[in-house]
Amino acid sequence: MRTRALCVCFLSLASARIALAADGKDRLLAECDKHSATVESLASDLWEKAETALQEKASSALLIDRLKAEGFAIQEGVAGLATAFVATYGQGKPVIGILVEYDALPGVGNAAVPRREVRKDGVLSGHGCGHNLFGSAAAGAAIALRHFMAKEMISGTLKVFGTPAEETLYGKVVMAQKGVFAGLDAALDWHPSLKNEVQNDGTQAMDNFEVEFTGQAAHAAMDPWNGRSALDAVEMMNFGTNLMREHVKPSARIHYVIPDGGQAPNVVPERARVWYYIRDTNREDVDRMYMWLVNIAQGAALATGTKANVRFTTGVHAYRYSRPMQEAIAVNLARVGAPAFSPEDQAFGRALQKAAGKPEVGFRTTIEALAPTVLPPEGGSTDSAEVSLITPTASFGIATAPYGVPWHSWATTASHGTSAARKAAVVAMKVLATTGYDLLTNVELRTKTRKYFEQQAAGERYVSPMQKASAKKP
Ligand SMILES: [Zn+2]
Repeated sequence: MRTRALCVCFLSLASARIALAADGKDRLLAECDKHSATVESLASDLWEKAETALQEKASSALLIDRLKAEGFAIQEGVAGLATAFVATYGQGKPVIGILVEYDALPGVGNAAVPRREVRKDGVLSGHGCGHNLFGSAAAGAAIALRHFMAKEMISGTLKVFGTPAEETLYGKVVMAQKGVFAGLDAALDWHPSLKNEVQNDGTQAMDNFEVEFTGQAAHAAMDPWNGRSALDAVEMMNFGTNLMREHVKPSARIHYVIPDGGQAPNVVPERARVWYYIRDTNREDVDRMYMWLVNIAQGAALATGTKANVRFTTGVHAYRYSRPMQEAIAVNLARVGAPAFSPEDQAFGRALQKAAGKPEVGFRTTIEALAPTVLPPEGGSTDSAEVSLITPTASFGIATAPYGVPWHSWATTASHGTSAARKAAVVAMKVLATTGYDLLTNVELRTKTRKYFEQQAAGERYVSPMQKASAKKP
């Protein structure tokens, strides 16, 4: 009897706690609604600005001004990057980070219309990756949470990280190297997408580097024996790389362009430059490929009588998802629901799909199920991976462009300038805010998250690929 009474008592206490938590989230979602106009106007303004990597002066200023006006303390020029910032609200533990991106892509600018059409103001860059939505939703979530924390006396610290130059995989790498993400209990991330889902596809570790060869110029017909061709060295290096392809794993990706291959056919090229991206599912395999390629560059230099200068620009790890956070996001995503696109939004989506030669199925309105384990990478890398190795991190996607249209293209830029995409950003704000609330108030979730993180890290300390780069310079 006694046990039973205790049981009942315990159960009612537990359900009361759940009910209280549910009420809290309802109130938080109502708070989010008050800031949805802010998210939408920031999304429009960032889309208009469309500033590319490390040029995001007006975009970062826009976000900084908004966050400052909402009571955040601002640190500008973080990690020596003019357009990076940290905005802080509250004090003490737990410390929850929210990642913000705002850089656009060169060459994919477009008007917000379902056809290829350059903007009237002639801006040629565009938010083909939707970082205008990324930035506005993340800032909006921080603003909603900050007001909610004040109203409901929730303790802890919110840190909003303005991370520039994601498209060149640079901002977060430098910020991580300089310790900007230290001391967090967790970091929240999201990304515009073709689907509504908790991010669970692996990402690829990557190195970005250039090799510049220096030879000797000469008249290509009159005295070629006096010349040493830097272009020959580039060609030889690429040939060596393409033979190496047979001996790398099927998951590896190697791509290059030749930004400088000489000036004129009648001059033996004194200088030539090749630019590489190399990727694989883990950092170790990328490191091995990099060392092999450095040797190929040296071999090419030796064979052609030139000198090779390897310049490492940046590198990233593969993303390490926090499973407890992924599960928390899945619950919140189901609660908030996919964006409620109007018939007009869907008509726009189908028109865009038609123009892009894709099936006219409109925007996705379903939510993908979270697979029990991490799925193999679909391709691509992100600098958010660096944050995920420093603190527990998870991410999700919300449909901001109609399904199947090419990403990083004029079509996604067009979509990301519409009210349909702004609705998606509001959904993202709510999922970020509710998950942030979970992390601030749910000790059990934080403990689980920390334990999982430590298990995954297995005692390994974060080492920046930039540090490795200086150590492995030939
Ligand atoms: Zn992106």
